[in-house]
Amino acid sequence: MNPQQKEFLQTAAAQAKRAGHVFPEMAACEAALESGHPDPVTKVSIYGGSELAREGNNLFGMKEHRHNAYGVMVLPAHEFENSAWIVTETPWEKYPDWASCFADRMGTLCRLAGFLPHYAAALAAKTPEEFVNQVSQSWSTDPGWHCRCGMEFIREVDAKAHEVGHASTYGVCEVIPGLGRALKVLSIYKACSEDWNATA
Ligand SMILES: [Zn+2]
Repeated sequence: MNPQQKEFLQTAAAQAKRAGHVFPEMAACEAALESGHPDPVTKVSIYGGSELAREGNNLFGMKEHRHNAYGVMVLPAHEFENSAWIVTETPWEKYPDWASCFADRMGTLCRLAGFLPHYAAALAAKTPEEFVNQVSQSWSTDPGWHCRCGMEFIREVDAKAHEVGHASTYGVCEVIPGLGRALKVLSIYKACSEDWNATA
């Protein structure tokens, strides 16, 4: 974790906490993943470097709400649909600051929890890990692969390689929408937990 990433996570966690978001440190890691933009030279992710984050303090890739309380900006969106990534011009929320962004994210989860069981489960979660696993399954289409033995994979090629180790009757890994996103957020959370514990 580099100084830019660490500073982003600490600032974002403080703003998430201020906004009343559950599991603010995990919410900061979600924001880091979703606002990340690769450095043109090193390819290392610059957290908060996306156009949405820079132009509109939109750290979560939040699309325009039906009843929009903030501003709107139109930029391309990348979605995983019918086994392929597609790009569409999309209206997005534009916020005055990060705290408003986290408040709107928390409000969105609460508003939709009655319709989306994974949001209800996320809000009732006992641990940050349970929160992100649940919330991701309705928040994102980014797929992950889950094996009956408990192993989970971000890349299909790794899931396929893993299946070879099981007897053929054991079955194959199941594709779960959002699991890829959850695994990516968890790897950021693990890295920042180790970092923060080391400096505490
Ligand atoms: Zn397995």
